[in-house]
Amino acid sequence: MQPKQIVILGSTGSIGTQALEVVRAFPDKLDVFAISGNSNVDLLTRQALEFEPPYVVATTKSAYQTLSAALESTGSTVLFGQEGLCDVAVMAEVDVVLAALVGFAGLRSTLAALEEGKVVAVANKEALVAAGHLVEDILLRRGGRVVPVDSEHSAIHQCLVGEPQNSVESIILTASGGPFRDRPIEKFSSIRIEDALAHPNWSMGSKISIDSATMMNKGLEVIEAHWLFHLPPEKIDVVVHRQSIIHSMVNFVDGSTKAQLGVPDMKVPIQYALSYPNRWASANARLDWSTIPTLDFEPIDNQRFPCLGLAYEALRQGGSLPAVLNAANEYAVSAFLQGAIHYTAIPSVIEQAMLRHDIVRSPSLDDLIEIDTWARSISEQKRQGTH
Ligand code: NAD
Ligand code: MG
Repeated sequence: MQPKQIVILGSTGSIGTQALEVVRAFPDKLDVFAISGNSNVDLLTRQALEFEPPYVVATTKSAYQTLSAALESTGSTVLFGQEGLCDVAVMAEVDVVLAALVGFAGLRSTLAALEEGKVVAVANKEALVAAGHLVEDILLRRGGRVVPVDSEHSAIHQCLVGEPQNSVESIILTASGGPFRDRPIEKFSSIRIEDALAHPNWSMGSKISIDSATMMNKGLEVIEAHWLFHLPPEKIDVVVHRQSIIHSMVNFVDGSTKAQLGVPDMKVPIQYALSYPNRWASANARLDWSTIPTLDFEPIDNQRFPCLGLAYEALRQGGSLPAVLNAANEYAVSAFLQGAIHYTAIPSVIEQAMLRHDIVRSPSLDDLIEIDTWARSISEQKRQGTH
């Protein structure tokens, strides 16, 4: 078998670098066709020199210039910006596009790849949250495939192999509870950036780490699950499971439940998405059952995590509201990481943007780009008004 030709969009991030570890472990099965990065030009250059992909995409002007000079005498062609991401995602040689960049910036290239009928391994949940209906429409028309990378959705996908859609009663996403699961709510006002970045179980990029602290990550995952598994919000539940051993579960109509378990290591779902529909033998860590006497579960504390309720509300109302939720959240997280707003302001910034939005039914890509920009600017105005 020829190795699969893969494109890794966002190769310098947490998911991207772990995906390249998977490639290193399976050199005869995976070949890197293209990689991309935003600002970490040194790492992107090293990756290009190691994997020698035909294409490298830089999404900032300065990275593009530095990279073009550094790779001048190599076989890699350097492309620029959103067009570059879309160009590599649709090339004829490509078998799988791994969407591992963060935020709404990942949407266009995912849609472009799916229009071309490609397999897209989706880590970039924000694209599905903002434009799940467009993804669904393209899949119906063009017959491509989306394979989830997110550990919860990979777990559900694995539980559903061989099961008809009408056998599913509901799904349960597990949540670790993040760094503030035990912090008294009255002490939330003293949360610092470094406290929010310190996730107890996973090491991830900064945006998803903050989303995990606020539980918006689980909210985005509920919306992601809605589009991936065609279930209404009332059939998607969330439970706190501190150990992150059960990655998610499916309840079936006969009263049976299936779960997928494993060591919390993103390389496992990344590898599964790249190997699907096969499984490849690997040296990934195994669970040692003799050291796990119990598995613990708790209900979600909605007062502690208001962002989860906002995400359910956005999904229930639908249309363009999830895109507003996502954009306002991206704005609020970035403002928090820059020290411009306090942790406790994140949900109120998002709620304000949602309240001010007139929902557009079935928004086009152009509508979504406009709405994304609007939601960020209304959130910025709200911050200035209250700061
Ligand atoms: P990260 O911040 O570590 O990496 C993000 C990548 O995207 C980098 O390569 C960066 O260069 C690129 N990027 C950032 N902004 C960009 C822009 N405007 N245009 C083009 N490229 C840009 O993030 P991550 O933790 O790897 O997460 C990536 C995605 O995967 C997110 O959607 C996240 O929710 C999802 N995810 C991550 C994990 C995890 O363990 N890290 C788990 C599940 C899902
Ligand atoms: Mg997840």
